[in-house]
Amino acid sequence: MAKVVVLGSGFAGQTAALNLRKSLGKDHEVVVVTPNKKFGYVPSWVWVGVGRMDVSETQFELAPVYKRMGIGYVNGLARAVHPDDNYVMVDLLEGGEEKVEYDYLINATGPKLNYAATEGLGPDHGHTVSICTPNHAAEAGEEYLKMVERMERGEEVKMLIGTGHGMATCQGAAFEYIHNIAFDLEERGLLDRAKITWLSNEQALGDFGVGGMVIGKGGYTVSGKIFAEASFMEKGFGWITGAHVTKVEEGKAHYITIDSAEDQVEEFDFAMLIPAFAGVPIKYINKDGNDITGELCAPNGMLKVDADYTSAAKGFDNWKKEDWPETYQNQTYGNIYAAGISFAPPHPISKPAAAPDGTPIVASPPRTGMAAGIIGHVVALSVADIINGKADKPVHTASMANFGAACVASMGKSMTKGSAAVIAMFPVVPDYERFEYGRDMDATFGDQGLAGHWLKALLHHLFIYKMKGKFGWWLIPD
Ligand SMILES: Cc1cc2nc3c(=O)[nH]c(=O)nc-3n(C[C@H](O)[C@H](O)[C@H](O)COP(=O)(O)OP(=O)(O)OC[C@H]3O[C@@H](n4cnc5c(N)ncnc54)[C@H](O)[C@@H]3O)c2cc1C
Repeated sequence: MAKVVVLGSGFAGQTAALNLRKSLGKDHEVVVVTPNKKFGYVPSWVWVGVGRMDVSETQFELAPVYKRMGIGYVNGLARAVHPDDNYVMVDLLEGGEEKVEYDYLINATGPKLNYAATEGLGPDHGHTVSICTPNHAAEAGEEYLKMVERMERGEEVKMLIGTGHGMATCQGAAFEYIHNIAFDLEERGLLDRAKITWLSNEQALGDFGVGGMVIGKGGYTVSGKIFAEASFMEKGFGWITGAHVTKVEEGKAHYITIDSAEDQVEEFDFAMLIPAFAGVPIKYINKDGNDITGELCAPNGMLKVDADYTSAAKGFDNWKKEDWPETYQNQTYGNIYAAGISFAPPHPISKPAAAPDGTPIVASPPRTGMAAGIIGHVVALSVADIINGKADKPVHTASMANFGAACVASMGKSMTKGSAAVIAMFPVVPDYERFEYGRDMDATFGDQGLAGHWLKALLHHLFIYKMKGKFGWWLIPD
């Protein structure tokens, strides 16, 4: 009998746990360790952040799902992994600790939202709101509605949306948020009372941490930059790109850019800036009691897997698709895997740049919900095959340089007037050896419209259904 422990219940962890349970007989144990009592459907927090959806519509209780499916559930935060002795120490939510033993461990703990990397950033100890957790998104929605009240009284309001650090990722979520704000204000007849500015570490609009993209649209080949700029011009947004936010004060964001290390300031009444991501602070302790976290994890705390981490030093022009991991197996401890945001990427996808004072400014690689699900799925299949005696090493692979991504970016929530940009790309990491524009133009396209919103709304219900492990859940793609 084998025991697989999954840390985290986001897209990666939940997908891994469900697939493990499906692929393993009842004599094997699957246990999820998570601080959450509820699963949260992250993409819809954009709508929570503009007060157009109640946060409860994005969540469901995990305990009944795990009970029905025969998945063990430890409600706590993993504190330390002891990889020589195969156990995890967990701080339980109701108090106390538990030693959870494993034969295989899947770390799917997602990001630590590293607000602390930017002074004054974030809702808890700073001056900006966030849509990265359910509570924060609900608070953002309340703060946003206060701005609406001010505009209704005739005031003009300055809004700043984007990223709060030179190495941040997840520009897509901020892109959705800025468009949902504009859509909501337009519906309320208030858009002309808002000065809305995009502030981002992307070197150009539409970079999204994937080095931008060239897409096929209506028979033409269009740069994603033009697509993004057109959507910003249509709504009257200003934009500042290539920016690293150095400090946020009440109503003021200080930043430097790739072109200037001079302190520049953007004032705001309301700001939502995505923080830098780091790995969650789990320690790895060896059999001698020594802390080996620095050996197993990248400097940002994300777990190293089967990527080529020497490639970062080779420089942008020498990066190859082989740098990217395929099995997500840790190379020191073969029974440990990382899935979703928790694995350390070998290097950025976008071309690195820096401010004149050397501060790095580059959008970090995104690992969207789709990628997190795909990776959680292949890791689960590999572990299940090993346990079932079908393989002696991980055989299921999913490199971001070999799989594509589909993204449905909401640009307004309404079943009759809403809109979303539907963008597909293959592969996520561009391959200029195989494709002229880095990606297969037959599989890289984009369009925008009301049908996109219907698809976005459908995905909300489909994925919540899937993550609940309801009948036929496995038929819904990752
Ligand atoms: C507002 C927003 C909108 C987005 N929209 C989209 C979209 O439309 N499409 C898309 O593809 N992607 C979208 N994304 C990105 C997507 O949500 C992420 O890629 C995805 O959530 C990553 O999944 P994950 O499982 O790796 O991490 P997470 O979803 O962050 O899950 C991590 C899990 O680990 C748990 N955890 C943390 N620390 C510990 C610990 N010490 N011990 C145990 N458990 C721990 C967490 O509580 C959580 O359950 C969006 C992101 C945001 C913020």
